[in-house]
Amino acid sequence: MRRSAFVGSALAWAAGTRFALATGGRDIDASPGEAHEMRVLLSSLATGPAGAPVAETLDPFTFRWNGRTYRGRYETALLPDGRSGLVNVVPIDAYLYGVVSKEVSAGWPRAALEAQAIVARTYVLSKRRPGKPYDVTAGESDQVYGGIQSETVEARDAVDATSGIVVVFATAPAHVAFGSCCGGHTADAAEIWGNDFPYLRGVVDPHCVIAPEYHWQRDVSYDEFIRALSAFAGSAGQLQRVELRELDDTGRARFVALVGDHATSLVKTTVFRTTLGTSLVRSTLLQDVSLDRGPDGPTRVTISGAGRGHGVGLCQWGARGMAQDGADATQIVQFYFPQTTLGKG
Ligand SMILES: [Zn+2]
Repeated sequence: MRRSAFVGSALAWAAGTRFALATGGRDIDASPGEAHEMRVLLSSLATGPAGAPVAETLDPFTFRWNGRTYRGRYETALLPDGRSGLVNVVPIDAYLYGVVSKEVSAGWPRAALEAQAIVARTYVLSKRRPGKPYDVTAGESDQVYGGIQSETVEARDAVDATSGIVVVFATAPAHVAFGSCCGGHTADAAEIWGNDFPYLRGVVDPHCVIAPEYHWQRDVSYDEFIRALSAFAGSAGQLQRVELRELDDTGRARFVALVGDHATSLVKTTVFRTTLGTSLVRSTLLQDVSLDRGPDGPTRVTISGAGRGHGVGLCQWGARGMAQDGADATQIVQFYFPQTTLGKG
């Protein structure tokens, strides 16, 4: 039932595209998504005797590298840093089989997997870089991609059912993003990355409360905290307290204030997070940073917050929650990317 509703919305969009073409709109329906090939950088480190990563072609459609098999073919490419890179050239949906399986659990509701497939397809199409040695990496800086071993039947079905469908704003594929859990309110892209899109503004998300990291807390030694932030804390003296300042419309503090006995130093929250590391500062939605004191001064710093990841765009745990409540993939995508439609990319 859900699938039928989804196909119906895609057909409705196609009708809109024909109208856009007749009025001079951009033709984004001319090349079906399954025809695209992506170039995925698998490694820039492992090198063989000749200085290039070693891979083995198994048949015209698969190869093996580093104990794993991949769809498509491989190429070696010269990277900007002078090293050789192993690049997997793979049809987009075959690539998405290995992405959706890694990004969301096969046990999640079908609509959540379909929403992930649509968003992952849209994301990677926006990352094509003709003239560069590859389009995306296989890691978290883009989308996690695991090749054939990581694939699940459920993820392949979700990719096949949504083949060619992307998120569209006006007449062009949208610049989408996604993350594990937004913590109850998705983030504004303009606040996090400085690029403002109407569909990447924060929305209240009541659906991800089921996420294991909806609330999180981590602590670190005071010495380690100061060492990591030395570029900012150096002039502040011994810290008296840490404050969250300038909440944006989504409840995220724009700055973390290091209040010392000499001065106060402001650190952008996004910089605070990347400087201390995203495994320690789990999300951009901080709730408290407190100092634990001993007789000789601060000993530990406890950081707490909500969600996991940057918080922009689709919230994976929220998508799961919406799907459990009966939403289809179209409804999930349009909740996280307001003002968008679905169409062929
Ligand atoms: Zn959420």
